[in-house]
Amino acid sequence: MNILVLNCGSSSLKFQIIETDLDIIEKNEDHQKAKGLVERIGGQSLVSLQSTGKPPVKQALPLRDHRVALDHVIRWIISADSQVPGIRSLADIHAVGHRVVHGAEKFTKSVVIDETVIRGIEDCIDLAPLHNPANLKGIYAARDLLGAGVPQVAVFDTGFHSTMPETSYLYALPYQLYRRHKIRRYGFHGTSHRYVAYRYRQLTGKDLENTNIITLHLGNGCSACAIKGGVSVDTSMGLTPLEGLVMGTRGGDIDPSIIEFLSHKEAMSLNEIDAMLNKQSGLLGLSGLTNDMRDLLAEEHEHQDRRAKLAIDIFCLRVKKYIGAYLAEMGGADSIVFTGGIGENSPQVRQRICAGLSNLGIEIDEQANDQLVGGKEGEMGAADGKIKLYVIPTNEELLIARDTVRSVRNAPRRW
Ligand code: ADP
Repeated sequence: MNILVLNCGSSSLKFQIIETDLDIIEKNEDHQKAKGLVERIGGQSLVSLQSTGKPPVKQALPLRDHRVALDHVIRWIISADSQVPGIRSLADIHAVGHRVVHGAEKFTKSVVIDETVIRGIEDCIDLAPLHNPANLKGIYAARDLLGAGVPQVAVFDTGFHSTMPETSYLYALPYQLYRRHKIRRYGFHGTSHRYVAYRYRQLTGKDLENTNIITLHLGNGCSACAIKGGVSVDTSMGLTPLEGLVMGTRGGDIDPSIIEFLSHKEAMSLNEIDAMLNKQSGLLGLSGLTNDMRDLLAEEHEHQDRRAKLAIDIFCLRVKKYIGAYLAEMGGADSIVFTGGIGENSPQVRQRICAGLSNLGIEIDEQANDQLVGGKEGEMGAADGKIKLYVIPTNEELLIARDTVRSVRNAPRRW
């Protein structure tokens, strides 16, 4: 089946076409046929479209909304110009898989989208006011353009974490707040943590029950996940993606009293504080320079910028703390897996995170670490380290395509 994988943000649309099916999944022979990105939807949009193995096509043109953007993308996919193999008409797109950010307690697994599912995703808007409405726009647009006959599947960022026990997901707040409003930890990046845990099993030959690892998704958004017996038992993001690790522009864990304090001292509204915590904090806030780890490392190296160094140090220290916490919580782990733009590409950040942890059995092999960049997959722990260290590039789109096939074909999925 040719699966259109869609990831819609408030003003962006990312897509891939992936050919896969149940037998192809078994053989691990899924095939990415095209990918692309539309940014700044609603204004002068920037479009990048690429058929696999061909040079990218770049365009700037006004695309009013997500429907118009998706219409543009689909017209390109089916056009002879695009040279996407095996796709010449709408009938060659067999199903759509959507990344949906928040499924709350309603959706623990990927589901075929019908009216009830749409209402369920709408019900979760309170919990993800920026993300779920954009995901819904993608769902409406795809239904409009491809017709109700083409099945659509929702794959939730929160789904993988639905196995967390109460002891991990409840905040120590008055219990009735959970009962009344479902205030609890949900966690995000679930598709990424689930994918790298699956790849880890492929690489090591471990079975699900013996998968005891800590996965670190370090990108623009960052989260850690404790995986025991193959399932998520804790994760660092919470009710929203704001909690936990230091991220590009999010600060992660803070004392909640800071909010009240700021509202007096800086006369900020709750909306302003929320924007500050989400968009002006983290690496950007600490450094005063950028949210981009690559640029911060360059500033630190070339200009010895004190605050760039401070931002990176605080970023790494926070990851260390979560590793320690999860090792204690799980009674040890077999491996730690790094993924995400930073986790996959920065030997230096990985080294700084692991430095000084040899007492815990965590020791890097510097040569192996330096080799693992630019999408390479492999092990980088020292031979005598008790806990193995891996870099495994994430591939959320592949998992979304596979879940789409499994859901459409009604095939069982254990993890
Ligand atoms: P998103 O969460 O938006 O998908 P990514 O997973 O692509 O983001 O991660 C983006 C982050 O990865 C940025 O901070 C970027 O600087 C960082 N990054 C990418 N390549 C490197 C590199 N070679 N060294 C250090 N950081 C890198």
